[in-house]
Amino acid sequence: ASSDPRLPLQLLIAAPRGFCAGVDRAIEIVERALEKYGAPVYVRHEIVHNRYVVESLKAKGAIFVEELDEVPTDAPCVFSAHGVPKSVPAEAERRNMMYVDATCPLVSKVHRQAERQIEKGQHILFIGHEGHPEVIGTMGQVPEGQITLVETVEDVATLPFTRDDKLSFLTQTTLSVDDTRELVEALRERYPQIVGPKAEDICYATSNRQAAVKKIAPASDLVLVIGAPNSSNSLRLVEVSERLGTDARLIQRADEIDPSWLEGVGTLGLTAGASAPEKLVREVVDRLSEWRAVSEETIMAAEENMIFKLPRQLTD
Ligand code: SF4
Repeated sequence: ASSDPRLPLQLLIAAPRGFCAGVDRAIEIVERALEKYGAPVYVRHEIVHNRYVVESLKAKGAIFVEELDEVPTDAPCVFSAHGVPKSVPAEAERRNMMYVDATCPLVSKVHRQAERQIEKGQHILFIGHEGHPEVIGTMGQVPEGQITLVETVEDVATLPFTRDDKLSFLTQTTLSVDDTRELVEALRERYPQIVGPKAEDICYATSNRQAAVKKIAPASDLVLVIGAPNSSNSLRLVEVSERLGTDARLIQRADEIDPSWLEGVGTLGLTAGASAPEKLVREVVDRLSEWRAVSEETIMAAEENMIFKLPRQLTD
């Protein structure tokens, strides 16, 4: 039977997991904006890709929209952690709006690198997933036609550039560490002249969460990843586990777990993407404990103590 409260279930809980410094900061920005300006505060795009977080902020008076033109000119607006194309703050300024930018500082760093590479006359090859808001934001830092999206190793072969072109590369922050390494190698092989960051721009939180899954997956019969289907770093955690041969499932909340998944599972790995609150991890552990005799062990891959400063407009 999959659910028998006497049947032991060993839980391997990955560390680090869940909230990163950029997500923490973005949520705090919305909360502080609500305190400072009063409700409603508009947020352009989900502040972070997590339904629970979005619903909690809605309950406090945040209104989520996709585009700036849905925001009344006299209401404050926060831009999400993923970053925005340059056209967005430009439009906000044109409309004299009050806005707070919650773009993660590690994404902003990539934005500034993009600007510098364009100033040096380089064409940018940007490694990322089409349609993700961070990709739209970073590509929107430079004039159209000066940045090309590269999604796969196969894409590299079809690029129209030569070894004489001035090229540079940048990456999305929430990619698979292993896939990106391969892709960068392919780029360097085809274009030895290409310049870019030493390795890539994948952030500390993304690589640490992937490293932690690499530790728990080989010892687990199944891995559960708490995260949203549109959360890039959460999807990558599922892939990391599956590549190591361990089935993995992405869940948003405990109620999505089907007890039949636990059939034949003696050891279960558990982690959470960078936008998933720890509360949801506890919720999952509690649910599992209703079905099985759970014992928990935390498997640590790295220590994190990153904190990002809030924008000055909210700390004055
Ligand atoms: Fe910033 Fe990385 Fe968190 Fe994204 S995942 S918000 S880049 S720290």
